[in-house]
Amino acid sequence: MREHRLQVAAPEQLGEGLVAVREGSELDVDVRIESVHEGVLVTADVFATAEGECGRCLIDIALPVEVEFQELFAYHSGEPFEFEVQDDHVDLEPLIRDAVVLALPFQPVCRPDCPGLDPETGLRLADHPELVTPEHSDPRWAALTEFQASEDEGADEASDTDLQKD
Ligand SMILES: [Zn+2]
Repeated sequence: MREHRLQVAAPEQLGEGLVAVREGSELDVDVRIESVHEGVLVTADVFATAEGECGRCLIDIALPVEVEFQELFAYHSGEPFEFEVQDDHVDLEPLIRDAVVLALPFQPVCRPDCPGLDPETGLRLADHPELVTPEHSDPRWAALTEFQASEDEGADEASDTDLQKD
């Protein structure tokens, strides 16, 4: 069994979304290579930094990415096997690429409660809290606001509303 810590530069950009690991940025890979009966078992932890923009307020952000994977590289046996030991080497690049790309968030945010942009001025609401109005609040509350409004419309509809609530 062998353990290595590798530092490699991303050979190409990893990911196509709002954030991606840029070409040339550093990947730290802690890798453990174990000899097993059928081949070589590789366990790796990959640490990288994804850069891009917040999906709500569009400022530049950098997010840490940490993923791990394990894969068996089989000795060549004549049977088709997805990963094989080739010339005493194992090629980790496609595994690292897939693991990192799958770990990237689809909706990256600068902070979990980022309020986004003001729809009228385009200003970043986190920098201008005075612009924040109830309409900017969490969209999950918007439905509740409508619910309260309809409840106020008439007392004779209250029983129907109560049924809907259940
Ligand atoms: Zn943001």
